[in-house]
Amino acid sequence: MHELKKLEIPNSIINEHSIPCTEIQNTWGSSTIHHNESIFNPFGDSYILSRPDFDNALLQYCKKLGINIQSGVRITAIKKTENGWDLISKTKSHNVDFIIDASGRTSKFNFGKVRHEKLQQDSLIGITKHLVNSEVIKAEKSHVLVESTQNGWWYTTQIANGKMISTFMTDPTIVSRYKNSQSEFWNEELIKTVHTKERLLPFALNNTVYTQSANSQIAKQIQGDGWLKVGDAAQSFDPLSSAGIIKGLKMGISAADALHSYISGNSNALIEYEEITKLQYKEYQQKRNEYYANETRWNNTPFWYHRNLRVKEIQTFSITPMNNCKVNEENLEEKIAFLNTQLPEINFKTLVNSLKQTPLVKDAVSFYLKKESQQQISPWLLQALESLKIIGVIQ
Ligand SMILES: Cc1cc2nc3c(=O)[nH]c(=O)nc-3n(C[C@H](O)[C@H](O)[C@H](O)COP(=O)(O)OP(=O)(O)OC[C@H]3O[C@@H](n4cnc5c(N)ncnc54)[C@H](O)[C@@H]3O)c2cc1C
Repeated sequence: MHELKKLEIPNSIINEHSIPCTEIQNTWGSSTIHHNESIFNPFGDSYILSRPDFDNALLQYCKKLGINIQSGVRITAIKKTENGWDLISKTKSHNVDFIIDASGRTSKFNFGKVRHEKLQQDSLIGITKHLVNSEVIKAEKSHVLVESTQNGWWYTTQIANGKMISTFMTDPTIVSRYKNSQSEFWNEELIKTVHTKERLLPFALNNTVYTQSANSQIAKQIQGDGWLKVGDAAQSFDPLSSAGIIKGLKMGISAADALHSYISGNSNALIEYEEITKLQYKEYQQKRNEYYANETRWNNTPFWYHRNLRVKEIQTFSITPMNNCKVNEENLEEKIAFLNTQLPEINFKTLVNSLKQTPLVKDAVSFYLKKESQQQISPWLLQALESLKIIGVIQ
């Protein structure tokens, strides 16, 4: 609401296309529900938006202000001209001075010699089902339920027309290991929940799924000569943050300010915009990492160790030279490959084989040194052994 006010956009654009969200319930870090009720929020209720209606209402409002909008036109290429750009679509070409790329997380335009490249932090996807219950016609208000499980986390809410929208956020490698359809994967993952399963009980399951990428990413370059990126085209956040829309609105305002300043003679304005965006992304990454780290129940499963385990940062150790270790073969190759990327200083395959040969840690370490033809113990060996324990390779 605060950002819309700055843009002088009427509240009705949200109010008419949403229902109030009374609370966020989450089971994150424990199976008990934690309630975050809007009544305790100084800004009041949050909103469960109908995105198509909200986006359309914003477009109509822009049209009313006299902005030239051409709906249903897909830009297929961008070409540099002598004094600007050609935006090329199937039927027409539009010549423009400056491009603000707001084409979302799938943005892939090259700007002249600048090739589109992005830095991806993870590969999160969301698999969604829309569920109906013939007795539920409309919802006047709703709440959001977030529930973490061993392969990801669930996001469930009811929307104005009474449909329950339930998304399982996970990694594509986890889904690809599953032999049956994505719909069956979703159903099987639902069985592992406690509260989501219960909430969905009155709704009929169906087989239609919608899969979307939801990974955290930032474009390598956010501005250049005659162009800049805003919103998800510049940086995309994890839906856990629920901050994509507000980020889009805020960036829209700062991109407009930067462009105004640039054409008024401040040649650094776009570079400053890019620097601020990169800084915001760093701050976001830190918050995202802190939030994921609050869930420690499944750090031995790929979804969670990919997010939570930073081997070089391990500072508490529970393995001693006199421990006897048993190697767990489950997903061993994948776990070793992951640890090798985190700590290339250690040959994890040899280390695990050494522990298989001789379970006493001090003997396994001697065996490892011999195999690797090393005289001295690596300063990272303690972290390596502890990481094997955290992700469940040794018990
Ligand atoms: C599963 C999931 C859940 C989410 N939940 C939330 C949430 O609860 N709260 C929240 O605030 N955010 C949430 N988000 C994030 C939010 O949806 C995005 O951050 C937000 O939509 C980004 O806005 P945008 O305008 O930058 O991009 P988009 O909304 O993606 O808009 C891009 C527009 O560009 C158009 N476009 C793309 N390519 C072309 C082309 N070649 N030619 C012409 N037009 C083109 C598209 O059609 C689209 O209209 C969620 C995201 C996901 C994936």
